[in-house]
Amino acid sequence: MPSVIETGFRDSVDLMFQRAVALMDLPPGLAHKIRVCNSTYTVRFGVRLRGRIETFTGYRSVHSEHMEPVKGGIRYSLDVNQDEVEALAALMTYKCALVEAPFGGSKGGLCLDPRQYEEHELEQITRRFAYELIKRGLIHPAQNVPAPDMGTSAREMAWIADQYARMNTTDLNARACVTGKPIHSGGIVGRVEATGRGVQYAAQEFFRHPKDVAKAGLSGGLGGKRVIVQGLGNVGYHAAKFLSEEDGCRIIAIVEHDGALVDDRGLDVEAVKRWIVEHGGVTGYPGATHHPDGAAVLEGDCDILLPAAMEGVINLGNAERIRAPLILEAANGPTTFGADEILRKRGRLIIPDMFANAGGVTVSYFEWVKNLSHIRFGRMERRAEESRARLLVEELERLSADRGWKLAADFKDRFLTGNDELTLVRSGLEDTMRTTYQKMSEVWHSRDDVEDLRTAAYIVSIRRIADAYSSKGL
Ligand code: GLU
Repeated sequence: MPSVIETGFRDSVDLMFQRAVALMDLPPGLAHKIRVCNSTYTVRFGVRLRGRIETFTGYRSVHSEHMEPVKGGIRYSLDVNQDEVEALAALMTYKCALVEAPFGGSKGGLCLDPRQYEEHELEQITRRFAYELIKRGLIHPAQNVPAPDMGTSAREMAWIADQYARMNTTDLNARACVTGKPIHSGGIVGRVEATGRGVQYAAQEFFRHPKDVAKAGLSGGLGGKRVIVQGLGNVGYHAAKFLSEEDGCRIIAIVEHDGALVDDRGLDVEAVKRWIVEHGGVTGYPGATHHPDGAAVLEGDCDILLPAAMEGVINLGNAERIRAPLILEAANGPTTFGADEILRKRGRLIIPDMFANAGGVTVSYFEWVKNLSHIRFGRMERRAEESRARLLVEELERLSADRGWKLAADFKDRFLTGNDELTLVRSGLEDTMRTTYQKMSEVWHSRDDVEDLRTAAYIVSIRRIADAYSSKGL
């Protein structure tokens, strides 16, 4: 029998928080204030669909307003419930503080299966849900800024932004009421893949720290590492694609709702994704072995396990059998508190969710700033940078002409290209992921009582939230 008991998602997050707080010296009562969820709004509304009225239940939970606006996605899933939304809102608070995105934490959810509805029906439902939240200040550029999450995408965000604009016709900053929008509705380049890109940067930075890599019982760089991916949604797909195409990782298994695909030589992520989009699952994919028991594949032999879907997939039921030495948490809350304890005892290393999947909210932050400044990043400086670079190149060419030297053609092209929005977004994201990892790792190594990266992440984050509260006089 395990010595720990399984808890719900909310309790799991709270227990992880408390494990870190026990190592900190906070003023009495402050830890409690930080931990509790400020408010959760539940709405039930009706929409006339297919000749009858259907009633939906939705939530928007605000965990902490130590900074405003509060930030966090809106999820569409049948599993949405108050406990889940509150846990996810709490994770947003800690995540934003950890990566220095100037937001409090929030999360929303609508209890429905989006696959059961046509596009125009989803638009009707989304606009109605948004209306309920907007009229209560739960969607607002200065107060509460949602984004995509599981079951939602740029499409839903565009509907929300339009709904807000209709209800606030003179708000100049209306577009900043939601992030993750399509580019033509005020979105930012690189937001769709941002969470997956962030997972890649997180992995790259980890492998720049040989001491940390050794703690996982691994060696060398990312190249050639064997990865098991769970969930090929937006996050899992982009993370797997970048890790395999750019870092030389081998995706040896992809676990989906209808089983797993396994190929030790490495799966073609693009081809698998296409198959899933066309067929609704991995079953029947011709290029690999299909295992109907996906849960067993999750426990398989690999270097990196990348859970990128639901919370709680690594739990007391399988933690003892997980073989991966390194777990890269691309999803929110994939490991329960009990499983985390077991994995730590078994010497497994976890790169925690609040860091590993922070790429999404980081680029959301850039999008929000872009919307408030009403100008695309790079628009003013790009050509000016290019003309300064051209000056330098021309002078170099003049000086080297007598000596018979020639600049390499690709150097010239690369040096002469000014920074566009995508380059700047990637630079900002990479810098965020790298500096955040370094901060966590520093806390992990400088204190004997900090045994893991998750506790280190909580300590960095809680310290910042505590400072924000104390400067407010609390
Ligand atoms: N839903 C994403 C997350 O869990 C993004 C949140 C955001 O961009 O506000 O981090």
